[in-house]
Amino acid sequence: MSGKLRLAALAAAAVMVVAAPPASAQQRFITIGSGGETGVYYAVATNICRLVNRDTEKTGLRCNAPAGGGSIANLTKLRSGEIELGVAQSDWQFHSMKGTSQFEKSGADPDLRAVFSVHAEPFTVVARKDAGIKTFDDLKGKRVNVGNPGSGQRGTMEVVMAAKGWKMSDFALASELEPREQSQALCDNKVDAIVYTVGHPNGSIQEATTACESVLVDVSGPVIAKLVAENPYYSEAVIPGGMYRGNEQPTKTFGVRATFVSSAKVPDDVVYSITKAVFDNIERFKKQHPAFAALDPKEMLKAGLSAPLHSGAVKYYKERGWM
Ligand code: GLU
Repeated sequence: MSGKLRLAALAAAAVMVVAAPPASAQQRFITIGSGGETGVYYAVATNICRLVNRDTEKTGLRCNAPAGGGSIANLTKLRSGEIELGVAQSDWQFHSMKGTSQFEKSGADPDLRAVFSVHAEPFTVVARKDAGIKTFDDLKGKRVNVGNPGSGQRGTMEVVMAAKGWKMSDFALASELEPREQSQALCDNKVDAIVYTVGHPNGSIQEATTACESVLVDVSGPVIAKLVAENPYYSEAVIPGGMYRGNEQPTKTFGVRATFVSSAKVPDDVVYSITKAVFDNIERFKKQHPAFAALDPKEMLKAGLSAPLHSGAVKYYKERGWM
């Protein structure tokens, strides 16, 4: 190429760069905080992102949903702006808003906003069949995975233990494995029981009940009834029989709601677009995971929400005539 031609080519390339800025220049990246890959939060977050990303050309939003540590980790990251939205249990949403329980040190989060609620999450205890654990009280003296710090189940387990007057030292072992590791640890006989606050059915409990003989454990009685009676974010729950291999009878426990939350610092148009992407396509969304099958939009605007609704979500709900 002659010097002149090369210059012309360079000039053309320069013009192209100026005339066609990379698409990413107009894109806004948002991150949704979720949970472990074998749980349901990960399915919530990845499927919301999938719907949002179908509209990137229109909205400029690029959504991503990496696996994460669960409720308390998500609520903490929302405060610092590390994520724009996240999934969190109704009990931890309440405490983050109020600055109580696990959030006593960090204080109330006045910017916390609810977007909608998702599936119900029973507090789920699974034990090896050979461990002889029939009810929650039988966990005393056993090897128990109490969950990773930052997860909802770890926080809720600590609440139940406090109500029962138990300490971690009451267990022969209290491990802190993440959800994706816990079922294998159970079936490898490294622990006797695992604890998971999670929607059903899910991959983790499915693994725990198919890779070895294990049973769902009853979590009821006066202490639990008192917790449910005294706290608006808890309710009685039943894990249906026949959902998992070897567990034909329903299991009594208590539970929370999975909720989708954001921050007042996140602009209205962002939360509006995400809310619209989900509810305009709700039938499609419901098909993405069996734990979503019972979702009902009317209930999703209320159940388990204690923080004020984000104004971007309110705009969409008003458009639909739901508010
Ligand atoms: N409820 C659990 C938590 O808050 C997560 C459950 C899931 O990932 O589906 O950590």
